[in-house]
Amino acid sequence: MRHVIIVGSGPAGYTAAIYAARANLNPLVIASSVEFGGELMKTTEVENFPGFPDGVMGPDLMDKMREQAEKFGAEIVYDDVTGLELDGDVKRVTLGNGDVHEALTVIYATGSAYRKLGLEDESRLSGYGVSWCATCDGAFFRQKKVAVIGGGDSALEEATFLTRFADTVYLVHRRDKLRASAALQDRAFADPKIQFLWNKTVANVYGDEKVTGIGLIDTETGEETTLDVTGMFVAIGADPRTHLVHDQLDLTAEGTIAVDGRSSRTNIAGVFAAGDVIDPTYKQAATAAGSGVVAALDAEKYLAERAPELLALVESPAAQAAAV
Ligand code: NAP
Repeated sequence: MRHVIIVGSGPAGYTAAIYAARANLNPLVIASSVEFGGELMKTTEVENFPGFPDGVMGPDLMDKMREQAEKFGAEIVYDDVTGLELDGDVKRVTLGNGDVHEALTVIYATGSAYRKLGLEDESRLSGYGVSWCATCDGAFFRQKKVAVIGGGDSALEEATFLTRFADTVYLVHRRDKLRASAALQDRAFADPKIQFLWNKTVANVYGDEKVTGIGLIDTETGEETTLDVTGMFVAIGADPRTHLVHDQLDLTAEGTIAVDGRSSRTNIAGVFAAGDVIDPTYKQAATAAGSGVVAALDAEKYLAERAPELLALVESPAAQAAAV
């Protein structure tokens, strides 16, 4: 039995772990088996995280956060959570390997998952030209033509990154105005390899075994065209990952976990949520980190108010470590 289990290992989860560990709460972080480190593991240079005037590579930043959390005593398990029992004083977290860990508090920081266009051939050709991660797959498209779908920060970052490899990057957006920040827009507009296709939606993805093109529809004229590309990078945002808890925790109209005001308190006592999974608006690494701070402090305060006999259930750090 632990004081706190943190589910998720992005900026929110690791920052919560740093704070909880420094408060001697010996947090256990369930980091995921594949996606540990969160979305920043899939990005290249992060230029807007405070403290790095020359930028920092996303995976390096996450590695530093993990190292900092471990330095103060956080333990990390690289497995996926398959079940959560959040009611009652003792919370139970079941992992993919069948282990069940118990804690008096849970901090839920699972971030968000990439959105799909919802086309049948998008799924079929996923990994065969359809991708959600330019940093993972961009190098396969040297001297090729690729399309990036979306008009937000992610789409422009992906497009700019892909110009390292591809000859031409078509930025396909459903409107005639971008949502992305001015700095990213300026950079993309100045890049001769990026061509903007405005007011276009993707209706089809073509190719038997690999992508050979995409079918576009002009939202104003209805005209259908085919764009010859061998890669399609989908960057149309992400949805909060709530599937493990949506039947236990209250959600907002936007689908994020509902928290009480500026706190991280959910509708269940002892369960706190942080990062993109509670944030429909800002979704920045720095705001997620701050949100992790809030969750750790809320959990600490909650624990300080628990009865001594409940706190006595928490095992020694040595017994906890042996259970991992
Ligand atoms: P986003 O800001 O929600 O933008 C999604 C884009 O995809 C929008 O342009 C949207 O079009 C378009 N879109 C959504 N659904 C679509 C569909 N079904 N078909 C076609 N287009 C669709 O998502 P994001 O770019 O992933 O960014 C998410 C958050 O992370 C934002 O807060 C962003 O600032 C942040 N972020 C920051 C950085 C950075 O600071 N360097 C980098 C990446 C992300 P509409 O514009 O018409 O709605």
